[in-house]
Amino acid sequence: MTTNVPLLQETGSTARDEGPLADAQAQLAAAVATLGYEPGLHELLARPRREMTVSIPLRRDDGSVEVLTGHRVQHNFSRGPAKGGVRYSPRVSLDEVRALAMWMTWKCALLDVPYGGAKGGITVDPRRYTRPEIERLTRRYTSEILPIIGPDKDVPAPDIGTDEQTMAWMMDTYSVSSGYTVPGVVTGKPVALGGSLGRASATSAGVVHIALAALEHRGITATRSTAAVQGFGKVGADAALFLAEAGVRVVAVSDQYGAVHQQDGLNIHTLQQHAAATGSVVGFPGAEAISGEELLTLDVDLLVPAAVEGVLTGANSRDVRARVIVEGANGPTTAEADRILADRDVLVVPDILANAGGVIVSYFEWVQSNQAYWWSRQEVDDRLARRMHTAWHHLLDAAAARGLTLREAATVTAVERVADAHRTRGLYP
Ligand code: GLU
Repeated sequence: MTTNVPLLQETGSTARDEGPLADAQAQLAAAVATLGYEPGLHELLARPRREMTVSIPLRRDDGSVEVLTGHRVQHNFSRGPAKGGVRYSPRVSLDEVRALAMWMTWKCALLDVPYGGAKGGITVDPRRYTRPEIERLTRRYTSEILPIIGPDKDVPAPDIGTDEQTMAWMMDTYSVSSGYTVPGVVTGKPVALGGSLGRASATSAGVVHIALAALEHRGITATRSTAAVQGFGKVGADAALFLAEAGVRVVAVSDQYGAVHQQDGLNIHTLQQHAAATGSVVGFPGAEAISGEELLTLDVDLLVPAAVEGVLTGANSRDVRARVIVEGANGPTTAEADRILADRDVLVVPDILANAGGVIVSYFEWVQSNQAYWWSRQEVDDRLARRMHTAWHHLLDAAAARGLTLREAATVTAVERVADAHRTRGLYP
């Protein structure tokens, strides 16, 4: 049954035809149609349970005051506390945060971590601010959203533009206001403050577990394969490194400034040093400069979009030559591109599985923080690998059983778990 739900009316927004929220809503609508859910349940799953938009007055270093806007959206908490990152980017909008929060709900359900989904963000280009300014911004944002976060309520983590230092400031602000230290209020903290070993590279490690499994599934030998990685940040840089360590020839990587290509394989370790020293992959000695757009259509076996949403579109996805796409970013493939890639038999491993390593180890960190008992790196890595592989095999089975693409099957599986939790709890009152 296809439903035609007027979405998000009461929160003052209508779903647009394009953009991450439209893509997220289209994926949900397709899953709801497969599952045959009634319109009321569809609407319940389509709308965020709670949203908070805050003004953040920031005192600049020169004494002037600037007022920024931040959001925290809790899409769902039927299966547990809300969970999801905080993004600092000039592109942040309420609709983007809504989409990302919904994807977190499905990701946590698909990987069976006991959380709902949330996301936060501030519309800001962090590169334009000093570190003390970012600290003040982070602390004020945290104190504005304080009533709705907490280890049992909603647990933030890093995302684009934020890092473990951001989480340390958030944890400190929350703890100071509570009067005692609350390590479980955020994940992705520095290890010295109760962060988990292996959290920093967990998303990348998960992407590579799945990429290697997906190549094998397509009959492609990893050590004879080539890859291109879009994005050289928290996810892309270590994904490229781990792919190279697994014997995959990483021939191109990009960042927001440009891309570099080297047909016999980039030395990712040296490239990471170059990027750390210069701030970009651009200008890497021995590599040819190409555009970020060219990277997406290179003749490679594996493409890992690990930057932002909406990069594989109706306009470029017919030209994609990779046979396997593993989504390191959230929402990199538009709904239209998804259809085109499925028609062309390109295997697209969806974000809610492929990049779930981060939230899995966030879950491990939360468990460790709440128990004040720390696991070894080996234990974290082994448990992460096990969860990723189990979810991958379940997803392959679900897709085959229902005759769906991997994204469709992943969304159906996740939506069903959330809906089951909701229905079992019952509607109050
Ligand atoms: N921001 C990451 C994501 O999109 C991690 C979220 C988390 O660990 O809570 O999955």
